[in-house]
Amino acid sequence: MSTDRHPSERGNANAAHAANAAPTPAANFIRNIIDEDNRSGKWSQRVETRFPPEPNGYLHLGHAKSICLNFGIARSYGGVCHLRFDDTNPEKESFEYVESIIDAVKWLGFEWRKDSAEHLYFASDYYDKLYAFAELLIERGKAYVDSQSAEDMRVNRGSATEPGKASPYRDRPVDENLDLFRRMKAGEFKEGEHVLRAKIDMASPNFNMRDPVLYRIRFAHHYRTGDTWCVYPMYDYTHCISDALENITHSLCTLEFEDHRPLYDWILDELAAAGVFTRPLPQQIEFSRLNLTYAITSKRKLLQLVTEGHVDGWDDPRMPTIVGVRRRGFTPESIQLLCDRIGVTKVDSWIDMSVFEGALRDDLDEKAPRATAVLDPLKLIIDNYPEGTTEECSAPVHPHHPERGTRTFPFSRELWIEREDFAETPPKGYFRLFPGNRVRLKYGYVVECTGADKDEHGNIVAVHCNYFADSRSGTEGANSYKVKGTIHWLSAAGACPAEVRVYDRLFREAQPDAGGRDFLEALNPDSKRIVQAYVEPGARDAAPEQRYQFERHGYFVADRFDTKPGKPVFNRIVSLRDSWGKPA
Ligand code: ATP
Ligand code: MG
Repeated sequence: MSTDRHPSERGNANAAHAANAAPTPAANFIRNIIDEDNRSGKWSQRVETRFPPEPNGYLHLGHAKSICLNFGIARSYGGVCHLRFDDTNPEKESFEYVESIIDAVKWLGFEWRKDSAEHLYFASDYYDKLYAFAELLIERGKAYVDSQSAEDMRVNRGSATEPGKASPYRDRPVDENLDLFRRMKAGEFKEGEHVLRAKIDMASPNFNMRDPVLYRIRFAHHYRTGDTWCVYPMYDYTHCISDALENITHSLCTLEFEDHRPLYDWILDELAAAGVFTRPLPQQIEFSRLNLTYAITSKRKLLQLVTEGHVDGWDDPRMPTIVGVRRRGFTPESIQLLCDRIGVTKVDSWIDMSVFEGALRDDLDEKAPRATAVLDPLKLIIDNYPEGTTEECSAPVHPHHPERGTRTFPFSRELWIEREDFAETPPKGYFRLFPGNRVRLKYGYVVECTGADKDEHGNIVAVHCNYFADSRSGTEGANSYKVKGTIHWLSAAGACPAEVRVYDRLFREAQPDAGGRDFLEALNPDSKRIVQAYVEPGARDAAPEQRYQFERHGYFVADRFDTKPGKPVFNRIVSLRDSWGKPA
């Protein structure tokens, strides 16, 4: 599987460093264009970009690439990036989506305020202007009202090998066009009866230039403009004009808009010729979208996962939505780091989920305090340890950062250990607990296993051992004990019960929707497992979104919504190592 990482960023020896240092943006073709514009003095204004989501769903990791790119470029050139809602499809849009998008962009670490000016825009605020410009195009003979049926329009559009056929209405006089367009706006016609089209070239090899529709009739309630309008502008018409109205210099979009660029330029050229805009006009530049393996980045399919109940909502921690990955515990920095690593190119490619998980581990390794959790608890009884006694053990909060101090937890006669850390008959190469074997209880004592208790079904219910009183970690005697295995543990008395949600990839296949197959068939039935675990006492009052590395297990976060004081609920963010597809 190929990735489009920037060559200088292959290999990630310095990745942890890169996550924390001020990022030095890697050169890319877009930056080269901006640098050239700066050299030639093309613009007499600062760099202005925009991120233009349609508020018809929740943002996902694909959008994060566009956000990091647009806001990142503006930031590093001292310019500004606008957040603009491209809201011209009344049926599908809502305030709920607007709010979630605002939250997502902020959480990713970006802002649209610059020098105390707020650069938050809505295409729907431009409806009056868009309408006036359409009348202007009609007056200049550049647009006409077409009254063909949708079917006739489709047929007359031609094919890849055949030019289109002019509509019988193409040469309507200006006055008639103006009159009809005004009456469309006044609500005198039914949906589909007329549309406004640009008059460009029905023989163009580019379909987008075969007299594209600019306005259509829709009797739909818009979440912001209500029932004021019954004609709505099309995306291609709205987008370039919004860019020009906002003085956008570089309009960055994904590759599927490459074929739309001639139309983008045509509309702005015509309006410049009419004296509406001055040159230079905004420049559209396309880059490849982010495709992430084991994930879906189509709003429609994500919606299907939610509405059909395959996941627990938009913010299910397995969802690639921004609200989902936030709840899962991903950091905004790891998402930015991923975007830096994959770079910006014009080559369509797939980024492996493991690249993302690598960015996450690199970021979390530095940040996350360490803690102990026992996910599959089994009792360990130290028979020669005095009953009713506890000692305090301590461990570093972070092994590479002594300045972050230590954490303490009790040691006592009864402990919880992982069930997999005991074997009645050890497989070859097994160095943990089995009768007669010695292991170190990390940060505690060396113990020797003496046997185990079973219930009437033969299940192991407790393991027994004896400890060596002079073997405590950090004391002189500790070094005279040589053992091959070290295991983690929690004092049964001090441990805090916690629900732990062990998440894995939502899909079993790298490209769940490849070749148009039903992506639901690739759902991973084991993507969510809930276990009743124990965590060390210090994690009892974990704040929502507090992250930890549970030693040996991976990175975990206290669930944003379900964690309550004294009752933590943890989500597994990612395991310590990439073990996907490898036998456990
Ligand atoms: P829709 O199908 O609803 O148009 P969309 O994913 O294109 O979905 P938009 O709200 O139009 O959603 O996207 C906002 C911006 O994010 C656009 O500029 C779009 O090009 C960009 N974007 C969307 N998906 C990706 C992706 N996978 N990688 C990079 N950029 C993306
Ligand atoms: Mg789109």
